Amino acid sequence: MQSNIMSLAATGRHRIAAGIVAGFMLCVLAIVLPMASASAPYIAPFMPMFAMAVFAADGLTAYLLWTQFMITRQPFLAALAGAYIYTAVTVVVQIFVFPGVFSPTGLLGAGPQTAAWIWVFWHAGFPLFVAGSLVVYRMLPGPLKNGAFVRAGCLLLGTPVCLSLFTGFLAIHAQGMLPDIVVGRSYREVVLGPAGISVATISALALAWFAITTRLRTLLQLWIAVALVASLADVSLTMAASERFSVGWYVGRLASVMASSALLGVLIWEIANLYRALHAANIKLGEYAVLDGLTGIFNRRYFDQRYPAALRQANETGRPLAVLMVDIDRFKSFNDHYGHQRGDECLIAVAHALKGCLRRTGDFVARYGGEEFVIVLPECNQKMAGQIAETLRDGIEALGIEAHFTEAGHVTVSIGLAASCGTDRTIPATLLAEADAALYRAKREGRNRVAA
Ligand code: GH3
Ligand code: MG
Ligand code: MG
Repeated sequence: MQSNIMSLAATGRHRIAAGIVAGFMLCVLAIVLPMASASAPYIAPFMPMFAMAVFAADGLTAYLLWTQFMITRQPFLAALAGAYIYTAVTVVVQIFVFPGVFSPTGLLGAGPQTAAWIWVFWHAGFPLFVAGSLVVYRMLPGPLKNGAFVRAGCLLLGTPVCLSLFTGFLAIHAQGMLPDIVVGRSYREVVLGPAGISVATISALALAWFAITTRLRTLLQLWIAVALVASLADVSLTMAASERFSVGWYVGRLASVMASSALLGVLIWEIANLYRALHAANIKLGEYAVLDGLTGIFNRRYFDQRYPAALRQANETGRPLAVLMVDIDRFKSFNDHYGHQRGDECLIAVAHALKGCLRRTGDFVARYGGEEFVIVLPECNQKMAGQIAETLRDGIEALGIEAHFTEAGHVTVSIGLAASCGTDRTIPATLLAEADAALYRAKREGRNRVAA
């Protein structure tokens, strides 16, 4: 079972899904671009809602990537978590300084240019950090050892957080040093100036470089590329709009949410799939754990669990319970004459014949060890158990497996029987020892018989 979501290969279905999402965004871009600068109504709660959505999606994505880093110790996952934590922190800083959200001019001493400059740092930073994670992957492709793991984790997550806070600080306190890019609601200067051109170029180059170098082979790479497409759509629409609360600006914010949630959606989807597969594998594992590898009937472990519980229940309810120990006669000679492979086939045939003879629910047969089997018959007194044992012995004879060195000329079994009447508080080991002693008596008395 594939247990590492980060190395899942992108299948044809994944590519189609990613293609549909990316294609949809490009269609929206093509439709909205010509009317991007058209003015739209001012919706006061839009910005806080947008910021919440981006923060939650980016924060969760960063967290999931980080947990995968802790499991796999692959440093590029920490770097990628860093890219998402960078946007999560930046969007928080931006919403505090955005004019008209918490105060008309924004909190933290923000000026009119602050929020726009944070947008620039945000949209240049995200593709740069994603591209950076690819560089980390190239430089450190394998999992890290203890010390390096902790250091890399701190560095790759700490750097984006610090950088996000630093750019926020710069946008607030170094406004004099940064060119003015906003006049009222218009940020036309961003589009025309070096800042906007740099952001657009970085977004496009990061997407192209990422797609070409990774060839989008894994599921993770595929959906990072979708996030980069959404980020590029956001940049294109926002720049084409060149004014806050215009059509392009609103749709650009929605593309931004898309860039944040694309990877998150797919991570959640695949983690759910992984849990489903894990659950099924666990059930299978539980079944295998109680079955004997050779014969396919229950094994000793199952017997050790079930038998004491069955006897306890019989004692509590005052009902009888019988135990049969079954041993193939002269099986060592069988192996010596016919070889171990035929011996194995004989064991399988005997096991299935014994199982086939048990008709009542609650009865079960287990391989006790070697060529010995044990049968537990709840609600069965000594007399009934004796009849069932005779049927079993007959059933094995009826298989007619050749064994010329035995008294009968074919494979036979000896059976020892012991029963608890339900009122004598028998303990499991005692009853089993009695069945074992009876088996040895059956052997001594000439084999191919039942002794109680
Ligand atoms: P008896 O009638 O007294 O029971 O004689 P026996 O030869 O059956 O008894 P013994 O305990 O001496 O031999 C048991 C043999 O069972 C020895 C071993 O080679 C064989 N055996 C145990 N487990 C397996 C198995 O998984 N496959 C095969 N082919 N043989 C097994
Ligand atoms: Mg034996
Ligand atoms: Mg034997």
